[in-house]
Amino acid sequence: MPQINDNYLKLKAGYLFPEIGRRVKAFAAEHPAAKIIRMGIGDVTEPLVPAIIAAMHKAVDEMANRATFKGYGDEQGYAFLREAVAKHDFQSRGCDIAADEVFISDGSKCDTGNILDIFGHENRIVVTDPVYPVYVDTNVMAGNTGPLNERGEAQGLVYVPMTAENNFTPAIPAGKADIIYLCSPNNPTGSTLSREALTKWVAYARENNAVIFFDAAYEAYISDPTIPRSIYEIPGARECAIEFRSFSKTAGFTGVRCAFTVVPKTLKGRTKTGEEVEVYKLWNRRHTTKFNGVSYITQAGAAAIYTQEGRQQINATIAHYMTNAKIIRESLTALNMKVYGGANAPYVWLKTPGQTTSWQFFDQLLSHCHVVGTPGSGFGAAGEGYFRLSAFNSRENVNEAMKRIKEQLKV
Ligand SMILES: *Cc1c(COP(=O)(O)O)cnc(C)c1O
Repeated sequence: MPQINDNYLKLKAGYLFPEIGRRVKAFAAEHPAAKIIRMGIGDVTEPLVPAIIAAMHKAVDEMANRATFKGYGDEQGYAFLREAVAKHDFQSRGCDIAADEVFISDGSKCDTGNILDIFGHENRIVVTDPVYPVYVDTNVMAGNTGPLNERGEAQGLVYVPMTAENNFTPAIPAGKADIIYLCSPNNPTGSTLSREALTKWVAYARENNAVIFFDAAYEAYISDPTIPRSIYEIPGARECAIEFRSFSKTAGFTGVRCAFTVVPKTLKGRTKTGEEVEVYKLWNRRHTTKFNGVSYITQAGAAAIYTQEGRQQINATIAHYMTNAKIIRESLTALNMKVYGGANAPYVWLKTPGQTTSWQFFDQLLSHCHVVGTPGSGFGAAGEGYFRLSAFNSRENVNEAMKRIKEQLKV
């Protein structure tokens, strides 16, 4: 028998979404007439915009013709997309990022996990609580942690809480760090890191020769011009940060699959014996060895968001989701609930009333209103007493869900 990677046995069997599924299924079986509205899962609902569809159709036609057919492209992505990303997402905002520092991939979920391939196992790793579970689970799989404790925390990781008490701004931890995960706009809390807060994290990373993994999957949802959209807006970040971006939430690509990771050539790591190494070279080696590029058709579609027409169209879709978020925020505030997020992110993070736990609130919302959300405690111990509602929905569903909450929710 082959030996397996024992680290996988340290993982909790996927708990949060299966448990939600189990409870919803049981409720639906008992109440077959109930029209359940799902506001739990972080997936987009609106179709791809016409500019993207036109670009993808054109690319399909090119693939159908011997003269314009394309086989393997560069593993790192086509120049037309890498250049558009560097120009529109970074250089136009004053960020010094070159096209060859952009690595096109099939998703940020994979990239945030795969990045651990090029780092060692003795790093002190900082995550927030609540947290996007991928960051924790991929560290467990990589053998960077001990087993999970009774709070579901991976032993060895440093958790910094994000709660209403600190305005969802994680405090710089005591002691040193080597790897820091930050997600802004944040999933699940819908909060963002201010320029001031992000500047402090960059300073801390530089003092410690640490790297920040900055997940900006929801960057397109920022409307407040004072909030950084990229970590590279902070001076010095080129020496201490890798940024993850995705077309999933920006352009409805959750089912199409396209994302990118930025690794500046000025970012250094060290060997066991203390020599400096360019992290860029390692990531390039990994990416070109273990990945064979995103399909031409997909990259052609992604590039369409950098045209004026494409940009206007995706902005309209984002505006639709953000109006949903506003309706959710205002409806719940009118019911005297404490709500956070939903202003520069498509998630509303509400404080459950009184002493109600996240799961008790889930059950009340499901049984009284037939609305499904996500218990905050599923994202970490500090998420207990909170609840996530997603703005990814039709207007009709959002209005109906808010009406039911107003008329039927008893807590
Ligand atoms: C949705 C999401 C992503 C994007 O993942 P893809 O694999 O690109 O679809 C990344 N990070 C967070 C926190 C997300 O919620």
